[in-house]
Amino acid sequence: MSYLIAKEQPGETCVVCEKVKLKGIHIYTSFICMECERNLIHTETNDPKYKYYLKQLKKITTPEIYS
Ligand SMILES: [Zn+2]
Repeated sequence: MSYLIAKEQPGETCVVCEKVKLKGIHIYTSFICMECERNLIHTETNDPKYKYYLKQLKKITTPEIYS
């Protein structure tokens, strides 16, 4: 599986900060580093940074579900 091959890479590009990070979480096919995940949780919705995060997160596309 391609998923397993991806795990062998030294890091993955975070969809939010666009830097290669080792630790993070996967949302669908996208990767969010621990740092950004933590920032996201602690950012108030009225913070300008929150809009930036939302913009970056829009890049995450949900996988198509075949019925
Ligand atoms: Zn990040």
